[in-house]
Amino acid sequence: MADIPKEAPEHCPGTQSESAGKASACAGCPNQSLCSSGATRQPDPGIALVKERLSSVQNKLLVLSGKGGVGKSTVTSLISRYLAASNLDKNVGILDIDICGPSQPRVLGALGEQIHQSGSGWSPVYIEDNLSLMSIGFLLGSPSDAVIWRGPKKNGMIRQFLSEVDWGSLDYLILDTPPGTSDEHLSATSYLKGTGITGAIIVTTPPQVALLDVRKEIDFCRKVNIPILGVVENMSVFVCPKCKNTAEIFPASTGGAETMSKELNVEFLGSIPLDPLLARCCDEGKNFLTEMPNSPTVSALNDICNRIIQKCEEEKENCPNNFA
Ligand code: ADP
Repeated sequence: MADIPKEAPEHCPGTQSESAGKASACAGCPNQSLCSSGATRQPDPGIALVKERLSSVQNKLLVLSGKGGVGKSTVTSLISRYLAASNLDKNVGILDIDICGPSQPRVLGALGEQIHQSGSGWSPVYIEDNLSLMSIGFLLGSPSDAVIWRGPKKNGMIRQFLSEVDWGSLDYLILDTPPGTSDEHLSATSYLKGTGITGAIIVTTPPQVALLDVRKEIDFCRKVNIPILGVVENMSVFVCPKCKNTAEIFPASTGGAETMSKELNVEFLGSIPLDPLLARCCDEGKNFLTEMPNSPTVSALNDICNRIIQKCEEEKENCPNNFA
């Protein structure tokens, strides 16, 4: 997309408008000639590149949360691992575009891995034979490097991530996005609009639903026409690893995610318990599914993922163009 005018006039008709560069308000604007040339109305070539690159990806899922720290990255890694493990014939990719806090390399035990570039693009890092990962974290000098990038640079990185990674053919590409609704979401959704987004999975904790943040996330999806696959409530109850008794650490003061989902007419996909062993596995980059196969967390995940698989199939029937 061409550069946006730096000093837009007060009544700027907008760079995409038919009267861009021609309206009386444009007189004297430093970008008048650029706008009147029509260059600003050309579609971003990145959209076509992304479409072509992701043409062999069946389902593109966004994982969203209203706030940081609710377990979005943890849930992304669990869902991805589950989808890959439940069917070895299916290929799953994770794209970590949480530019300010990329945690997938740590959670998936891939810290310090290097990205290789070949003639066909950047090669993702393989966590399993059918589970690959690309993360901004691989491009940072150290995991603690702060990433303080402004809008255009973030936009450029997301475009590169979406258009230059050589995923091969994927059944699921799962995007771990930053919390909230930021530049990154707008960039990702606008680049993905040519190829279609299967749907969003929204992660929350029980008390967080009392806040406006999750509602804003749902509102964002509706405004930009992203189907909402459903809501996952993370850290719902604490299951003691020893005695198996349960306790509500974060009381669902407003009825929790299930009530909110009903109220907002979105599907409630299920709850994942607060599980200290899960936190430890993620910190150590271990695969929780193989470490603790009989835990209540894995059985909760089983139900959630089966529903996600079904919902993806339903979306395919509803919007076949997204899967062409
Ligand atoms: P976000 O991506 O939303 O910022 P993270 O996935 O990084 O959140 O999780 C924040 C912290 O909470 C991490 O230390 C993670 O291990 C822990 N955590 C997330 N979900 C759970 C859970 N269900 N049980 C226990 N700890 C969890």
